[in-house]
Amino acid sequence: MNPNEHKLAYPLNDTLPLPGHSIEVAEGVHWIRMPLPFALDHINLWLLKDTIDGHTGWTIIDCGISRDEVKTLWETIFTNELGGLPVLRVIVTHMHPDHVGLAYWLCQRWQVPVWMSMTDYMTARLWSSGDHNSAAGGEGAWRHFHAHGLRDADALEQIKGRSNYYKGLVPEAPKQFVRLLDGDEVQIGGDTWRTIVGYGHAPEHLSFFNADKNVLISGDMVLPRISTNVSVQNLEPLANPLPLYLQSLRRYSDLPSDTLVLPSHGKPFTGLHERIEQQQVHHDERLAEVLAACETPQSAHDILPVLFKRQLDLHQMTFAMGEAIAHLHALYFAGKLKRLVAGDGLIQFVRT
Ligand SMILES: [Zn+2]
Repeated sequence: MNPNEHKLAYPLNDTLPLPGHSIEVAEGVHWIRMPLPFALDHINLWLLKDTIDGHTGWTIIDCGISRDEVKTLWETIFTNELGGLPVLRVIVTHMHPDHVGLAYWLCQRWQVPVWMSMTDYMTARLWSSGDHNSAAGGEGAWRHFHAHGLRDADALEQIKGRSNYYKGLVPEAPKQFVRLLDGDEVQIGGDTWRTIVGYGHAPEHLSFFNADKNVLISGDMVLPRISTNVSVQNLEPLANPLPLYLQSLRRYSDLPSDTLVLPSHGKPFTGLHERIEQQQVHHDERLAEVLAACETPQSAHDILPVLFKRQLDLHQMTFAMGEAIAHLHALYFAGKLKRLVAGDGLIQFVRT
């Protein structure tokens, strides 16, 4: 949790949308929340009043995971919150299950296209196809975490058994898509929303900035309470995502300091520049702690207690392992750590 959260402002205070209901947070921009079955128990989704080819209706931004409970809540929203108008398009910020999970269902339900970045669309297609290389489980994840020092037989067995984890939350991806690129200007309901691509959290994450309304739909790139997950995963074992994430954050510094930020988790807030600075400081501090711990050779699993002071359930532990490797890799690629691979495949890092 963010110890400097009090430096941010929440214009709606503690008001939250009730399940199946929306709150208008800016003219034509409505906030809804859907449940998640994790420690992080909700995701924020957005409904934008829109007109496409002369038809008036709504654009949905992000979808929720594929669960009957979430579909039922969507149906309630369609009945009560759309003023009798249809959904015209679905936009997805990135390929994580809570964002893309119901994209296929929503696009089928309304016979509309999904708009995404190409890299995230392709990754969602690949992982929802049942490819056993998915991030959170299966043989590949087992090998990845084992090499990085996780030796708890129970945890490894559970990770191996979760080969269908992604597909369970994203059973199918839409079969066609509209490609969004960095800097694109998407017209939604007479407004221009400029895309900002960010790296480090997802392959090609999209945020959307509306200069006239001074509103940023930040996705997972800027969150008020929790720090954005930045992980090295099995699919790309030598990735260096932390510098990519921190460099991407700088791109939000050009936006006005009083921009209303609509994040995917937590509440709408102002204090964008403050929050970006907090993330930079947070990661600088974690990097210094990890470097200090590496006086003697350390695996990613060894440094979990350095980065995470709380008890972690299995789901959180897989994220934490990915984060630990990301911090070690940032230092390794900066030349501050050496990478040691033992005969049994164990990967450790030590100060140069
Ligand atoms: Zn995400």
